[in-house]
Amino acid sequence: MTDRQGVFAAQMTALGLGDKPQSWIGGALVDGAGEIITLVDPFTEQPLASYADAGADLADLACDAAAEAQKQWSKGLSAAARGQVMQDIARAVLDYAEPIAKLEALVAGKPIRDCRVEVAKVAEMFAYYGGWADKLHGEVIPVPSGHLNYTIREPLGVVFQITPWNAPIFTGGWQIAPAIAAGNGVVIKPSELTPITTVALVKIAESAGLPRGLVNVLCGLGPTTGQAAIAHPAVRKVVFVGSPETGRRVAMAAAAALKPAVLELGGKSANIVFEDANLKHACLGAQAAIFSGAGQSCVAGSRLLVHHSVQAQFLDLLAEGMNQIVLGDPLDEATQIGPISNSRQFAHVTGMVQAAQDAGADVVTRAVRPDAGYFVPPTILRGLGNRAAAAQTEIFGPVVTAISFADEAEAIALANDTAFGLAGAVWTADVGRAHRMAEAVRAGTFWINSYKAIHVSSPFGGSLNSGFGRSSGTDALMEYTAAKSVWLDSAPVPKIAFGYVS
Ligand code: NAD
Repeated sequence: MTDRQGVFAAQMTALGLGDKPQSWIGGALVDGAGEIITLVDPFTEQPLASYADAGADLADLACDAAAEAQKQWSKGLSAAARGQVMQDIARAVLDYAEPIAKLEALVAGKPIRDCRVEVAKVAEMFAYYGGWADKLHGEVIPVPSGHLNYTIREPLGVVFQITPWNAPIFTGGWQIAPAIAAGNGVVIKPSELTPITTVALVKIAESAGLPRGLVNVLCGLGPTTGQAAIAHPAVRKVVFVGSPETGRRVAMAAAAALKPAVLELGGKSANIVFEDANLKHACLGAQAAIFSGAGQSCVAGSRLLVHHSVQAQFLDLLAEGMNQIVLGDPLDEATQIGPISNSRQFAHVTGMVQAAQDAGADVVTRAVRPDAGYFVPPTILRGLGNRAAAAQTEIFGPVVTAISFADEAEAIALANDTAFGLAGAVWTADVGRAHRMAEAVRAGTFWINSYKAIHVSSPFGGSLNSGFGRSSGTDALMEYTAAKSVWLDSAPVPKIAFGYVS
């Protein structure tokens, strides 16, 4: 056993998880029987553990378990009691924050400091939505007929959630917490590359009082396990977080079964810097926007639009800053950027940079990087237009395409000239311009003199190739419930317009 396999084993033991990923169904660890999947440490490129794809049989078992537990959760407990369980889960997650963060850092390659923040945010998500559990009520609508008309927000039943590898436990909490607060049962399939922390989360939640079977985790592949769960009759909605290509497949499979879907997909967000901005602040923002998480963030500021009068100065500042970022072992406290999370993504990012260079880009990057691991150093691509592949395709790595603009109108036109609509930002001292940009740029989230601020209480989502529907905030509660309209006639003689009695 290598040192890192030892670290892996120690965290697994601390969480009571055995020695490899296993699905969590009905309150128990269950082995799959399909294709073998190997988790690789992206820092050493060495295997950590292997397991078998859950497959269709386990998908059926998980959906059946969720359907059974959901009846009791939504009808057998008061909403206040459900909220209390969620508050208890929030506290329990914090008790296990360290082993979860370490496993996430090891398997996903994300710096431990980022993982700790994400685990704390997951606890916050359960506390936030726990607070909503007994405040989800409908409306009384003054219909003209004189009936008493009111609405009830009902849970959907079982929801199936699919999440990606770039922020596994964060995305898991982001979707599980509103779903159960609204009274649903959940089956969740994290990425086959990073499934363990989601299993840990649900196991911990059960130890804090979540009924067994209410939330089930499938460890496995999308085309087999994922598609089987989408098709299961108990599943009433599919919530997908991932790439546009897979999102299309998931939405088509859901549509074939007449099930609604929420898609949280990728982006190519514009980070826009005007000449009147505080350039030092904007430079810090630009680094956080594209280099944090090694750029593996759906909202990454991957297109940096800078006013032509300050572009050269700004890019020099950015290059200077990026040379000071600490690249290294995700488990090291000092590390600010870890490796790219997996070999497939590493090949994509390096391929995109090479293609940009072949297309004539001036590639500004750092010479020094760790010898092993899927490392891509922070990189600026200059000299490309907005229609270049590097400005239109999601690279999902620490690589920013820098483009200049002449005025507000051109900045808006460039910002909106992509197939995405997820996020964007502006840096300016002019408050009127800031609001004009916020209104004109197509994005579900927009920052003014800031980047990447996000909170569970605020809605999140996109349009076009960035998907549809909303996560977080009260919008997520709407996504996870349906309105029922109830009509009561209190008149002495019913106000029915048609019918006969003898
Ligand atoms: P991906 O699309 O490859 O995989 C996402 C999930 O889909 C995984 O769990 C995978 O197993 C599953 N999957 C794959 N094929 C499937 C199929 N045929 N049927 C059902 N499920 C299937 O994405 P990824 O590479 O894991 O993650 C990176 C992508 O996620 C990027 O595009 C990024 O922008 C996006 N993302 C979006 C958000 C957001 O909220 N908008 C957040 C994080 C990541």
